[in-house]
Amino acid sequence: MNLPLPAGVVTRANASGNGLPSKRMDIMANTLAPKRVTCQCGNSFVSSKSRSWCQQCCAPVYYYEKDQRRHKINNYYMITVIALVLMFITYIFVEMIAEPLMSL
Ligand SMILES: [Zn+2]
Repeated sequence: MNLPLPAGVVTRANASGNGLPSKRMDIMANTLAPKRVTCQCGNSFVSSKSRSWCQQCCAPVYYYEKDQRRHKINNYYMITVIALVLMFITYIFVEMIAEPLMSL
């Protein structure tokens, strides 16, 4: 099985000496290419992580648009759950206070 490798890969594998991929290559594989991301507040900066924090408003800024959307959906979901819980608590309190008053 001799797969044709790009010249750059062969050179780097030989440079490590023992035939194993070097640590530098592993780090390079896990690091995203620096990309300019823009926060919701309009602040734009270069990021190489899947999630980083805006220096101006401390909001999470995602490398991929897909993650940003998922985060937004999660936020809406959390707000909905909290709103439902608050409404339920209000309903229980109204039931406990209004019902004894009406039965007088
Ligand atoms: Zn921001």
